[in-house]
Amino acid sequence: MEPKRPQVRPATEGWTQQKDAAGRPLLQFASPKRGKPPVHLADLKPEERVARVVELGLPGFRAKQLEKHYFTHYTSDPALMTDLPATGRDEFVAGMLPPLLTEVRRLETDRGDTIKFLWKLHDGALVESVLMRYPGRITLCVSSQAGCGMNCPFCATGQAGLTRNMSAAEIVDQVVRANRLIAEGGLGDPRGLGHDGERVTNIVFMGMGEPLANYARVMQAVRVMTDKTHGIGMSARGITVSTVGLVPAIRKLADEDIPVTFALSLHAPDDELRDELIPVNSRWKVGEALDAARAYFERTGRRVSIEYALIKDMNDHGWRADLLGDKLNARGRGWVHVNPIPLNPTPGSIWTASDRAVQDEFVRRLEAKGIPTTLRDTRGKEIDGACGQLVATEDDQRAAAATEVAGPH
Ligand code: SAH
Repeated sequence: MEPKRPQVRPATEGWTQQKDAAGRPLLQFASPKRGKPPVHLADLKPEERVARVVELGLPGFRAKQLEKHYFTHYTSDPALMTDLPATGRDEFVAGMLPPLLTEVRRLETDRGDTIKFLWKLHDGALVESVLMRYPGRITLCVSSQAGCGMNCPFCATGQAGLTRNMSAAEIVDQVVRANRLIAEGGLGDPRGLGHDGERVTNIVFMGMGEPLANYARVMQAVRVMTDKTHGIGMSARGITVSTVGLVPAIRKLADEDIPVTFALSLHAPDDELRDELIPVNSRWKVGEALDAARAYFERTGRRVSIEYALIKDMNDHGWRADLLGDKLNARGRGWVHVNPIPLNPTPGSIWTASDRAVQDEFVRRLEAKGIPTTLRDTRGKEIDGACGQLVATEDDQRAAAATEVAGPH
C-alpha cells in the first residue's frame, strides 16, 4: 500500500494569474500587434532572397555570398565582406542582415559550460537563450516568443503574458550568435585545445514561448536551421519542438517534411489536475494530446518525448505514474519515452520539486510498465537559466534600458 500523500492543488502565491472574462486562466493565442522587426535574409525563402538582392540593385548571386557570411562565418559585419563591392556595401548589408538581437547581458555557470544570454529586440522586448556544452554535443535552448500566452502557473515566462511572436530571423539569430561565440572559444574552458569547427549540434524550443502558437515563423526558422545549401545545415533530429499540446498544430507538424523531435509537456495524466496545471487543457484534453503525439510518431517514425515536471505532492503520486504508463501503453509500445524534470522553483512559487525518494519511485513505476524514462538534468539554476525560469526581471529591464540598440552588425 502506498502511504497516503496529500494532494496539493495548483494555486499561485506572490503573483496573480491573469483570468479571462469567464474567470478561467487567460490564454493568448494571437500575438499582440507591435512594430514588426525588420525583414532579414533568414525570414525569406532562397528565391525571395535573390529577389530582394535584385531589388536593392545588386545581381542575384550576391544572396549566396551573404548566406555564406551569415550562416557559415556567423557575421553580419560588412567590413568583413570584402568579396562584396565596396560602394554601397554598408547599406546593402544593413538591408539584408539588419541587426536583430542586442546583447544586454551574459551569465555563466558550470565553469563556463552553461551560458544564458539576455537579448533585446528592436522594440525593446526581452528574450533569453541558454547555451549548454555536454560531452559530445552542444545544445541551445531558444525562445520563440517574447513572453508566453499559455499561462502555466508553475512557469515564470507565462506570468507576464505574451508580448509578441518572434520573427523567424530573430529565432535563427539566437543560433548564429551562439555559433559565433563558440567559434571565438567563448563556451567552456578552452584548455588550449581550441574549438575548431565546433557549433551548436542540438536545438530545443524550450526557451520562452509556445512554439506552436507561432507556427509559421517557427517552421521557417526550422527550415533555415536544417537547410544544407541555404541555411545552417543541422540535422532535423537534433531539433526538438516542445509544446503544451496545441493539438491541431501537432497534427500539422506531423505532415511537414522535416521530422524534428517532438516533445509534449504533459505534467499530469489526469484531466482533473491538468486542467489546473496547463490551462490549454481546457481546449485539448490529455487523451487528445496523447493521440496527437502518437500520430506524430506514426507519421514520422520519431519517438516522442513526454515532459513531466515533478512537483511535490501535486503531480508526483505513484498512482499518477501508473496512470501515465497505462495511458501511454494503451497507444502502443516503443513510441514514447518520458522525461521527468525536477521542478525548478520560480519567483513567488510555493511549490517545490519532489523528494528524491518520490522521484525515484515515479521513475521506477514507469519503468515497471516498460516505459523508457530518463530523469532530465536541468542546467543553469544558479543563473535562473533552467526550464521554466526564463523571464525578463526588473533587473534585466534596467540593464536593457541602459543598453543601446546595436547599430549595423
Ligand atoms: N511552451 C513550450 C516550451 C517552453 S517550456 C512547452 O510548454 O513545452 C520548456 C519545458 O520546461 C516545458 O516542458 C515546460 O513545461 C517546462 N517547465 C516550465 N516551467 C518549469 C519549471 N518551473 N520547472 C521545470 N520545468 C518547467
